[in-house]
Amino acid sequence: MKINIAKSSGFCFGVRRAIDISKKLTGKKKKVYVLGDIVHNSFVVEDLKKIGIRKISRIKPALNSILIIRAHGAGQKTFEKARLAGYSIVDATCPKVKAIYKIAQNAEKHSKIIIIGDNNHAEVKGIAGQLKTKPLTIENSKHLPLKKLSRIKKAAVITQSTQTIENITDIMRHLKRIIPEVTLFDTTCRAFRIKQQEIRSMPKENDLMLIIGSKQSANTKRLYQISKSINKKTYWIEHAKELNRNWFKSIKSTGIMSGASTPDHITQEVVELLSRKKTTKTSGKR
Ligand code: SF4
Repeated sequence: MKINIAKSSGFCFGVRRAIDISKKLTGKKKKVYVLGDIVHNSFVVEDLKKIGIRKISRIKPALNSILIIRAHGAGQKTFEKARLAGYSIVDATCPKVKAIYKIAQNAEKHSKIIIIGDNNHAEVKGIAGQLKTKPLTIENSKHLPLKKLSRIKKAAVITQSTQTIENITDIMRHLKRIIPEVTLFDTTCRAFRIKQQEIRSMPKENDLMLIIGSKQSANTKRLYQISKSINKKTYWIEHAKELNRNWFKSIKSTGIMSGASTPDHITQEVVELLSRKKTTKTSGKR
């Protein structure tokens, strides 16, 4: 069986950067915490725990402690709260997410902000938390807040960095019919766009697709959905132990794509287990 690993498989720039920033903080005389999961992957969270970086879900008073803000970012109120609670803040927000903040803040001066994104995702909350007025968040065209939308005269649409082109296009089609003046600021991230391009071609070129990443990861979920819509033999696993040999009966080629928060060693373990079958491996990874 041939194994083809996507060129863009695994960590994106923002996730790698946040982990590197976090690792550099160990060995200091302060306790180091991260607000929420540093990225949506339990293996990464565990690795950091081993070197003393602990996750907290809520900000409580703390002395002599560092708080890492993860790659997804956080709202301004979270920063204020953490400072008041006594933390020194290390901001590992992805620069590309920060660029979205600026676009949204500028657009807010003259338009109602609409975010196309997952309502409860940290990145979306972070974007909303930079604004003076409450934005509207839309996840998909099935759940359009029609009453609220009908009151808007001018809107600026910002997108979560990991949204798919299909979802954005579909929602925009509806918004253009309802709102007299609506401008799209496509703030999807290039790293994820490249992943999307690959995940549209690989399922056509391989008999079976494996998507590797946490079930909490929004970008992995989207990669899975795209792949599954093209190739029914698409499986989403978090680690090698979930592989099922029945999937691979009469399969000649398997494509592998890992989410932006999946560490390389997890992908490697999957590849090694598959390689115990008679395989040829091609990796686009740099
Ligand atoms: S997907 Fe893009 S915006 Fe999100 S953390 Fe990675 S590099 Fe940054």
